[in-house]
Parts: sequence; structure tokens; C-alpha cells
Amino acid sequence: ATPVAIMVGTGKAASQGILIKSAQSLETLHSVDTIVLDKTGTITSGKPSIQNIVKYKDMSDDAFLTLAASIEQGSEHPLALAILSKAKQKQLSLKSVEEFEAVGGKGVKAKIDGQTYFAGNSIFIKENGISFNEKDIEKLADEGKTPLIFTDKTEVLGIIAVADTIRNTSKAAIQEFKQKGLHVVMLTGDNQRTAKAVAQGLHIDEVISDVLPADKESVIRRLQREQRKVMMVGDGINDAPALMRADIGVAIGQGTDIAIDSADIVLMKNSLLDVNTAIDLSTSIIRNIK
Ligand code: ADP
Ligand code: MG
Repeated sequence: ATPVAIMVGTGKAASQGILIKSAQSLETLHSVDTIVLDKTGTITSGKPSIQNIVKYKDMSDDAFLTLAASIEQGSEHPLALAILSKAKQKQLSLKSVEEFEAVGGKGVKAKIDGQTYFAGNSIFIKENGISFNEKDIEKLADEGKTPLIFTDKTEVLGIIAVADTIRNTSKAAIQEFKQKGLHVVMLTGDNQRTAKAVAQGLHIDEVISDVLPADKESVIRRLQREQRKVMMVGDGINDAPALMRADIGVAIGQGTDIAIDSADIVLMKNSLLDVNTAIDLSTSIIRNIK
């Protein structure tokens, strides 16, 4: 495309809250055939909240929530923030943490009053040799919720199920991607059952779940080895390498700074519908010069 056409196109996009950082990406956009969408914060709003509390010990909801929030207080993960904001709302006073460790994409470990506690997904809890009621976990996950398992050093104490709402533009946007003939993939660190339940009804072709933060980029590489032209849309720190690797990286405007820095395009209105607008713009610019 001519520099003038690119400039006009970039300006048009910007006026609609779509920031296109380079001329190159405006030209590449129309040739994308695969679109990879992060789940939490991209398809969903990224503001999860507590849905269910299941306890396996004789303790009050508030006592359990106090312990859970205390364990999570060193975490900046949105799932942890859902628990912390509930505790704050209930004005619970948290216990102090003596040691804390976050294990990326799995959970956290904390020491309180000399006791070791774990909070995280099934894989993490199993790795620590603690058993739990799989049926309870599966039921919550099948409802599209993310079950967080809380344990002490030997036993499960309870589960907190957290869920996020799907952005109201996501379904229509994905429908438009399908109409364009794009292959639509959901990519998430969350477990398979929850991911499948969220994907249900959204017309997503492929769900890739249980992906550790460091592995999102290799999923993009694998798709590219299959000769696909890949767009990745994400919001989190763990999406940044994948955004860089993709042929086109798109960040959600309300996402983390590192995602925004790593992307070619930023969606200021946080709507996946704007991905379609950008693709259409690119297509019309390319068509005009041919
Ligand atoms: P996502 O791709 O949804 O942002 P992550 O890769 O950050 O997910 O985390 C994957 C999974 O690890 C979460 O769904 C959750 O089960 C578990 N996890 C991560 N951080 C925490 C935490 N602070 N507390 C409990 N569980 C966590
Ligand atoms: Mg995310």
C-alpha cells in the first residue's frame, strides 16, 4: 500500500480507538488465517469474582476466607485479587505471612503461624502430594468456574470457585471471525474443563488449555510451523512473548503494560469487535492498491 493509504488507514483506526503501531502490521493484517485468543482478560472481562466456597473442615466461611486471603495476599494474580477484595469487603483482618512463593501458572505456597499452606490448581496440589475430591472440582469446572484448592501441608481445607464474565462483544466478534473463515483458538493457563465450558457456545474451533506461562509462545510457534499466519490477542504478562512471536500481536487496552508494549495493535475499547474492524480496514487498503 502507498504511504498515504497507510497513513489514512492508521488515522481512521486511531479515531475508533484502535492503535496500529506500524505500517507493516496494517499490511499483514488481511492475510491472517488463525486467531489465538487468551481466555482470562481477553475473551472475559478479567475481573473474576467468588462464586462458591466449599469447606472440608469445621470452620466458618469467614474463618476460611480469612485464611484463604491471607495465603493469597502476596499474589497479584486476578484470581487472588478476587479473594482479597471479598475479604476486604467483609472487613476480615488477614494473618501475616512468614514466607511466600508464587509458582507461575499453578498457584502459591505460604507460611502462616509456622504452618505451610498451598493454594492452586489440581496439578499443583497433586504435585504437592495432597489428595482432594475430584468430583467437586470437576463439577465447578464444568460450570465454567476456576476452582482454587486450598490445603495445609497434608490435607485439603476447602475450594473457592472463581469466575469471570464473558465480555459482551466477544461472542459476536468470534462469529465474525468465523464468517471471515478464520481458525479460532482459545489459549489459556486454566484447566481444560473450565476452558471448554467457557468456550461452549462461542464458536471456538480449538481449545488449548493448561498452558504454562512460558509455553504460550511455543504454541504460536507450532501453529506457524503448520504454515499458519497467526494473530494473538492477549492482555497478561504471560501473553507478552506470544504477542511478540505472532505475525500480529494485539493487546487489550486495559491489559498489562508489558502486553501493550509487546503488541503491534492496541484495542483501547477492549472489544474483540475492533479486531474485525482492523482486518476490514487492512483488506480495503490492500484491495484499493491492487
Ligand atoms: P490464565 O492464563 O488464566 O491467566 P495462569 O497461567 O496465570 O492463568 O494460571 C493458571 C492456573 O494456575 C489458574 O487458573 C489457577 O488455577 C492457578 N493459579 C495461578 N495463580 C494462582 C494463585 N495466586 N492462587 C491460586 N491459583 C493460582
Ligand atoms: Mg489473560
